Amino acid sequence: MTASRGDQSGLRIYDSLLRSKRPFQPIQDGHVGMYVCGVTVYDDAHIGHGMSSIIFDVIRRYLLHLGYQVTYAQNFTDIDDRIIAQANAAGVSVDEFTERLITDWSRETEALNILPATVNPRATREIPGIVAMIASLIEKGHAYVSAGDVYFRVRSFAGYGKLSHRAVDDLLAGTRVNVIETKEDPLDFALWKAAKPGEPSWPSPWSDGRPGWHIECSAMCLRHLDGIVDIHGGGRDLIFPHHENEIAQSEAFAGHAPYARFWLHNGMLQLNGEKMSKSLGNIIPLREIIARGRAAAFRVQVLQTHYRSPLNFTWPGLDAAETGLARLRAAFAPVGGDTALENTSADERSVAELAGEVSARFHEAMLDDFDTPSALASLFELGRAINRAKAQRAVRAEIETAQATLVELAGILGIDVSAAEDSSVEDAAPFIDLLVQVREELRADRQFAMADLIRSNLLEKGIVLEDNPAGTAWKRRRDRAGRA
Ligand SMILES: [Zn+2]
Ligand SMILES: [Zn+2]
Repeated sequence: MTASRGDQSGLRIYDSLLRSKRPFQPIQDGHVGMYVCGVTVYDDAHIGHGMSSIIFDVIRRYLLHLGYQVTYAQNFTDIDDRIIAQANAAGVSVDEFTERLITDWSRETEALNILPATVNPRATREIPGIVAMIASLIEKGHAYVSAGDVYFRVRSFAGYGKLSHRAVDDLLAGTRVNVIETKEDPLDFALWKAAKPGEPSWPSPWSDGRPGWHIECSAMCLRHLDGIVDIHGGGRDLIFPHHENEIAQSEAFAGHAPYARFWLHNGMLQLNGEKMSKSLGNIIPLREIIARGRAAAFRVQVLQTHYRSPLNFTWPGLDAAETGLARLRAAFAPVGGDTALENTSADERSVAELAGEVSARFHEAMLDDFDTPSALASLFELGRAINRAKAQRAVRAEIETAQATLVELAGILGIDVSAAEDSSVEDAAPFIDLLVQVREELRADRQFAMADLIRSNLLEKGIVLEDNPAGTAWKRRRDRAGRA
């Protein structure tokens, strides 16, 4: 056996399937195939999507840093019931509707400094591969046709439940079973759905219809990663049934396990300790973070929580991340021109020495299942030390050595410490928040003329207010124009 990079790097990753950390070793030496379930494009992306994208971006960046070549595939689910309903409601075709949201997604993830995927397959453009996989599953006895639909026969796959750690017989207990007459067993799930009148459809041997959600990811992994899935990622909410079903489909198709070497699942985003959901009316769209010039601060905020833990988003938390980021950027700012007072104190270790220690601790943390909170903490420590060294007029060369370490380590996390945020909006943000709050008070007191004055004056300055049941949100008009 040859030693692989995985052994050399010392990277250990928590695998949701085994529920333990183990050394990472890819199937092919030096190459990592990574698949992360993407968005269903039926609505604007929110900060939960942004969080998950940042997490897997950092994992990918760290693998790149370790010297792996990474093929990163992330799909767009561009056909499902919600998409059809939303497109109909908007009076546009499904294609037009999804294209617009995919364009928004690309722009928003770019603003978050997320590296573009190697490939972004879309369900509707993968139909031949999906149909071929379903046909093979039918042939092998793992799927059956019923009234134009095709279902996966769950009890034909012995490993069902191994990812979510549930026994097949327990899956039925305690859940209200929706008995669909066309299924052999309530556990069976759809691979292909015959189209209802007026719905978009694609031809297949069974009916004109469309693929079920789970089969697209199995088919895309096969096609775009050649079935070599070292890392399969997604939110915790996808473990069951989505990823469980992907495993069943892909392993039944291949005739062997494993479908994916490592299953990585991120914790879910909460808003002030509550679930963020449409029904609670508390969804924060990703574009709001971006319009406020907070994209980089949001990345810092996300990385301050370990990816497997839930992230509790709060605006003060984002402010704190912004402050931390500002300190890192101050540390990176060039050393002032006056070098006459260079001091060295022999009894203290130099900032350059500290940089070496910080670098070692940073990598130790990242190698331990991507412990970004610890990695960031050591970065902040280095930032503070550099700022102190600058104030004390320490030796310029030592400060610059430490700065080089700072910029390199921050860059591994996708944080650009050399950039400045859009400071005009950034500086104004707390004041705009205050005006919005004052306006809400005025409206509550029925002082509508004064409230409207605030709205129209802000609009003149390019700030658009949007009233919704959960309160008033604001954004820059430039962003709105960009999205039109
Ligand atoms: Zn998926
Ligand atoms: Zn390939």
